[in-house]
Amino acid sequence: MNCEVVAVGTELLLGQIVDTNSSWIGEQLALAGIDCFLQVKVGDNWDRIRDALQIALDRSDAVIVCGGLGPTQDDITRDVIAEVMGVELVEDPEVIERLHEIFGSRGRNMPMNNLRQAQVPEGASRIAQMPGTAPGLMCPIGDKVIFAVPGVPYEMKEMVEGTVIPELRRRAGDTGVIRSRTIRTWGHSESGIAEMLADRLDELDRTGTATIAFLASGIEGLKVRVTAKADTAEQADAVVAAEIDEVAKILADYVFTTEDQTMEEVVLDLLRERGLTLGLAESLTGGLIASRLVSIPGASDVLQGSVVSYASEVKFDVLGVPVGPVVSDDAVRAMSEGACRVLNSDVGIAVTGVAGPDEQEGVPVGTVFMATTLDGVTETSMAKFPFNREQSRQFTVITVLDHLRRRLLAR
Ligand code: ATP
Repeated sequence: MNCEVVAVGTELLLGQIVDTNSSWIGEQLALAGIDCFLQVKVGDNWDRIRDALQIALDRSDAVIVCGGLGPTQDDITRDVIAEVMGVELVEDPEVIERLHEIFGSRGRNMPMNNLRQAQVPEGASRIAQMPGTAPGLMCPIGDKVIFAVPGVPYEMKEMVEGTVIPELRRRAGDTGVIRSRTIRTWGHSESGIAEMLADRLDELDRTGTATIAFLASGIEGLKVRVTAKADTAEQADAVVAAEIDEVAKILADYVFTTEDQTMEEVVLDLLRERGLTLGLAESLTGGLIASRLVSIPGASDVLQGSVVSYASEVKFDVLGVPVGPVVSDDAVRAMSEGACRVLNSDVGIAVTGVAGPDEQEGVPVGTVFMATTLDGVTETSMAKFPFNREQSRQFTVITVLDHLRRRLLAR
């Protein structure tokens, strides 16, 4: 069984968006043991989409086409598939009903344009998952098949996981079950983590019981995914669980979760269990730490607030930072203690740094000072992140939260 991927969208060709969908689909196909030898990108052009689909279909057993299922005139994937299948478009009343439901629940009238989305090629069936307004389609052509999924990543992922991969595996006669779980780490590079696991990786290569993949995910941490295949879900889960334990033991305190939580969730849980409240003083991150924490339900048990002390005067006047350099160890220490005082919290976190593009007070871009205050003791650290402005801010968030995590566990 082999499957090609066709990503549709002129913006992909112009470099306005990066085709992360194809990479993700490629990864899922590989995990499922389905060969994917070719992936192409094509603009919103009828003839070129048709040729791309036709060529892919001639070469392969299956094609996944993503994008161009929206309601507007340039969303022509449905129409082109109908031509490739040699059939007409027909209206699917279930889709119309679903669209009315979606718009109704948002208290909005459905624009007539959306009715285009209910036009499906005759003989195609709708993919059960429909998280957005674009229905996914399964379009049989002889003994081959085209799957059409939306371009919006979360919609595409739900359909590929829920329908496309299981259907491809069924067609391949593969009845085994694949399961995976993710460990998240922080504090060591991807190559460093791989080095720690080198012997384990060799062992797994020999035994073939499970596979391990690394995925650097910025503010989400460095993910280590363990995957196993077995005859039943229970067997696959058991192999994965045993391997997760093994890997977690080797990576020790670099692991912040084996349950696929974010660092924010882990730290909030640790604080909540200990009955501690948290106050923040954020310069470089400008509220990003607070925003990440607040996006988790129940954060209000723990988080008192954040002082976004961007201007030096706010650091001096509100947080009581002594007048002097504001990107310094002394400043960040005073900020963290000031946050506890001003926000009446048990625990403090503070960050200050130079996000760039220009250096500040002679301090180079990427320099970040971080502090945590716990049990009246403030610990500080300095990091130099060789990243751009946004990445520096994101890495600062996860790094300072990790400091606090380690301190809470060592308490
Ligand atoms: P919908 O009707 O749900 O909007 P659609 O099938 O019409 O879906 P597109 O209009 O092609 O989807 O794309 C919608 C958005 O999804 C794009 O603006 C882009 O942000 C994202 N997207 C599309 N294709 C890709 C891709 N290959 N990789 C990553 N993101 C993509």
